[in-house]
Amino acid sequence: MLYFLDTAFWSHLEWVALFVASLAVVIFARYLAISVLYQFLVKKLRAKVSHGTTPKKRTATSKQIKREITWAFTASLVFAVLVALSLLAYQNGLTQVYTDIHEHSLTYFFVSPALMLVLYESYYYWLHRWMHLPRVFKHVHKVHHESTSPTVFTAFSFHPIEAFLQFIFFPAVIMLVPVHAVMLAAIFLLLSFFAVVNHAGAEIYSRGMRKFLIGASHHEIHHQQFRANFGLNFTGWDIFMKTERTEPTGSDKAIQQK
Ligand SMILES: [Zn+2]
Ligand SMILES: [Zn+2]
Repeated sequence: MLYFLDTAFWSHLEWVALFVASLAVVIFARYLAISVLYQFLVKKLRAKVSHGTTPKKRTATSKQIKREITWAFTASLVFAVLVALSLLAYQNGLTQVYTDIHEHSLTYFFVSPALMLVLYESYYYWLHRWMHLPRVFKHVHKVHHESTSPTVFTAFSFHPIEAFLQFIFFPAVIMLVPVHAVMLAAIFLLLSFFAVVNHAGAEIYSRGMRKFLIGASHHEIHHQQFRANFGLNFTGWDIFMKTERTEPTGSDKAIQQK
């Protein structure tokens, strides 16, 4: 058992505070590393990866990027607190997280991340619709939408309340749905990667993939029009709820923010 999962560890508040701060730094550093690396790759491969839908007008400034990175750091702190609470719950046997691969079938081991992603997609879509209610938007989601030309650094640029609402899904779901610890880590990595891809302003998905995957073009329309494209990584909910727009310009009068 890891030393920080020892019961004695949690009784020392200064250790817990140091642990949460270290976790925040690791989460923040991981976000910066993925963002910078992806930005570099996209610049290198731009001609090859774009499929004619790369957003044309990009007005991101260094001031915007500084703001995004600052908000991302506060969001990392919120994520770190929730990760620490999840570890505490795990230590007390309150979660369904398992480390012995034989505890569930091998099929389940591979299916569980897909199940998690589908559940999170549904949670996020409706949370996102709710965050666009005018009375909620200004307090919770406005920070993320200050970037009308999103960058790779917009991926984690959230108000702490939004960061909490997004991430609280995970401590809750791991109490109900079994998932192997390695797969849980893989899900977080995948979600971070998707978030950066969707904010980078350069489309890497083919026309066929964009029918079911949300890419940079799809999400940039959300940042510009506000009332369409509420999904996180998959287009399913937007198609089903008729909130999808695939054109970067034009009226979205048909979609009313409820
Ligand atoms: Zn966004
Ligand atoms: Zn939004």
